Amino acid sequence: MTGHAGVSRSCDDSSPNALRLDQAWEHVLATLTPMTASERVPLRDALGRVLANDVLATVDVPSSVNSAMDGYAIRGADLQPDGSARLRIVGKALAGHRHTDPVGPGDCIRVTTGASMPVNTDTVVMQEQVQVDGEQAIVKPGQQTGQNVRQAGEDLARGERILAAGTAIGVAELGVLGSTGLIEVGVRRRLRAAFFSTGDELCSAGQPLAPGEIYDSNRYSLYAALRSLGAETIDLGVVRDEPEALEAALRMAAASADVIVTSGGVSVGEADHVKTLMDRLGTVQFWKLAMRPGRPLAFGRIDDCALFGLPGNPVSVLATWYQFVRPALRYLMGETVTPPVCFDVPTSEALRKRPGRTEFQRGILETDANGRLTVRSTGEQGSGILSSLTRADCFIVLEHDRGRVEPGELVKVQPLRGILDWR
Ligand code: AMP
Ligand code: MG
Repeated sequence: MTGHAGVSRSCDDSSPNALRLDQAWEHVLATLTPMTASERVPLRDALGRVLANDVLATVDVPSSVNSAMDGYAIRGADLQPDGSARLRIVGKALAGHRHTDPVGPGDCIRVTTGASMPVNTDTVVMQEQVQVDGEQAIVKPGQQTGQNVRQAGEDLARGERILAAGTAIGVAELGVLGSTGLIEVGVRRRLRAAFFSTGDELCSAGQPLAPGEIYDSNRYSLYAALRSLGAETIDLGVVRDEPEALEAALRMAAASADVIVTSGGVSVGEADHVKTLMDRLGTVQFWKLAMRPGRPLAFGRIDDCALFGLPGNPVSVLATWYQFVRPALRYLMGETVTPPVCFDVPTSEALRKRPGRTEFQRGILETDANGRLTVRSTGEQGSGILSSLTRADCFIVLEHDRGRVEPGELVKVQPLRGILDWR
């Protein structure tokens, strides 16, 4: 399937008034003001939300010095430098059950992982290193004083900032908050996002397709995308390519939401009214991005409501979502936005590319015969091939000024699938 990547047949994505992505991002930062309103929610409901304040640890985690192994807690001074040590087993401490009597010289205590270290002990010998002989433990040589012991507060120290305001709470964050015993947490209020599709050719699921119609997929992509950010969604359906209907939808959306995301109708075709209406009802900061897929993209606002008029092509919707709308909405939600992880990988095939726009081709990472990571295209890169995104595991990011890429050249890839992220 080589040779198809990046073919542009019909539209010129490198028009001179298209904004580069970094310039467009400057407009976003200048136009959007992060939301500050917050609420307190039970810990579990904080999953997928953005922390409103720094969170400090109210306890040490772990709360006491404890054993990292199942074995024997001993006094390090009892270890023999060159031989095995024979110690008396005088008690046991299971996790959650302290052994309170001080431990004397030559004595040791049977412990399980997580048990508080008995008084006077400072070292744990794992059970595999101990031979039990009646009441005695024979410790093999080679142990170090202090080994296999977890210090109080070594994960989180009381008073320490454990998570910063603006952090999105994912799987690990929820666990860390839980480890300090919190039952509630302050998070930014949810973003309210209205969205709709435009196009006379669109048919909603459940209706039979008339000739020339297609099912509306963008509304599902956008629903999923917005929900993955934890937004409250207001689905305004499919709106016809009629200025009156579009105006009504935009007004209704602006009155009820923090952000409006539409798809379709932002090009310059006869039926493309969205950009004109956005201009009339609000302000449009820009509407051409030097990116492919996704060149016509209107960004602006109506009153206090942010507005993203995405192109209609289904791949353009998701490419602009990931590269542009999603970071913008995270910023709006008060989240600290970091650039996506990218790394360089050689491409195993040629990639077609024209200078003058940043391209986000869909790629598949593979290991070649020498065990080296490489990337190839998913094939046909047309912006209507939505299934390319279910086959891809990365975006191949081809920089603005770059031209055609030959096999073996390094390209930037942005992995699409993470394991620890909640959103
Ligand atoms: P437009 O940006 O309105 O010119 O649409 C560009 C292309 O995307 C056309 O082929 C449309 O049929 C298609 N398209 C627009 N909206 C949707 C949608 N909601 N679902 C699937 N395809 C769409
Ligand atoms: Mg249309």
